[in-house]
Amino acid sequence: MDYEPDPFMNDFGEGERVCLECLIDLGLRKAFGRSLDKEQNDCSFCGGEDRETAPALEIQAIIKSRCLSNKNEAVNELSYCTAEGGYLGKTYEPTEILEAHTLHAVGDEFFTALEENLNISSLFCDWDHNMPQPVEQWQYGWEAFFQTVKHRSRFFFGEHEAEARDEFDHTEISPNDFLRHNVPQGIQRLRAVRTLPAGTTFYRCRIAPPNTTVSDITEIGPPPATDSVGSNRFSPPGIVMFYAGDTPIVSALEVGWFTSPECDGKVLHTGKLCTLTELTVLDFTNLNYPAGKFDPDWIDDYHIAEFFSDFIRDLSAPIQNQRKPLDYVPTQVLCEYFRFYGAKTDGEWSKLDGIKFPSSHDGTPCYVFFWDNTQARSNLQLTGLTVEFSQAPP
Ligand SMILES: [Zn+2]
Repeated sequence: MDYEPDPFMNDFGEGERVCLECLIDLGLRKAFGRSLDKEQNDCSFCGGEDRETAPALEIQAIIKSRCLSNKNEAVNELSYCTAEGGYLGKTYEPTEILEAHTLHAVGDEFFTALEENLNISSLFCDWDHNMPQPVEQWQYGWEAFFQTVKHRSRFFFGEHEAEARDEFDHTEISPNDFLRHNVPQGIQRLRAVRTLPAGTTFYRCRIAPPNTTVSDITEIGPPPATDSVGSNRFSPPGIVMFYAGDTPIVSALEVGWFTSPECDGKVLHTGKLCTLTELTVLDFTNLNYPAGKFDPDWIDDYHIAEFFSDFIRDLSAPIQNQRKPLDYVPTQVLCEYFRFYGAKTDGEWSKLDGIKFPSSHDGTPCYVFFWDNTQARSNLQLTGLTVEFSQAPP
């Protein structure tokens, strides 16, 4: 049988061994840790003697799949035009691809050895070059969802079909598919569904006129639905939810105590609350992101993690006051979806009590629970109360 050289990179020899010191990326280190073929040996690259090593071929296979995860050989994908001087479309040399992914992920000697193995006569292009890359597909889906619920259709946006972007010859993820398919998939992959044990404490603030008495949860909890007139990050006017923060300061920041002129002459009541039962929340403050670019568990869907880190930043981004009601619409729609459908974990849908998210002020965890005042009372116990008169920041 004829030997077909790998168009990207020749393989290391069977006897070549790499040590942990030659690997910087945490994902490659994870793969090293999992190798079943580790043995005490000299490293073939950095010169380290008598240390734990893994077959270089195994680590190289992970590097190769990551480098080529969205690349194809130009010869298979692009048209060639001699008059135009080559392939019609963007191409990459193997060196470019290797450098983009690996330059700071491995030690210098191992990088040089990988570089020497490259098959420099080949050219590559993006896989299916007329399509957006996987991370772009998710970004465009989020953009389409965001724009549709803000400016085109609030209640029947599921009727909106995906539309083609000018630069590509295909349709995007529809707003409905983004909400019902991509978001649950990302949440499941990043293991965002978490349990809050009974006894978890957090704080809730209420700004009130100076002579108001606050002595129980009812008085520090959300107002009745008929008095709920404000648009909040996760709840539109008329729909009540229970907001709280991990610390007294973040709770005060979230209600605008240090910044809003409307607080002049008022007092701040801060309640310390303790959960009475176990609760299930979507935790956007502590997602299970890949350990480095080459995490062997994320080779095919690294783009999901890449997208989600920007997505969570968008969900908790500061919003200027005058644009508040409109810019909160996308997060309000997402929240209503989570409230009624829950979220997926290990293939099963779980009912949710709320969402834990990073504060737009200082990143401290905050909570929104899908509760009105009565539900808050049955889930929480008030364990402390303070009153402050000054608006000066601590
Ligand atoms: Zn080494």
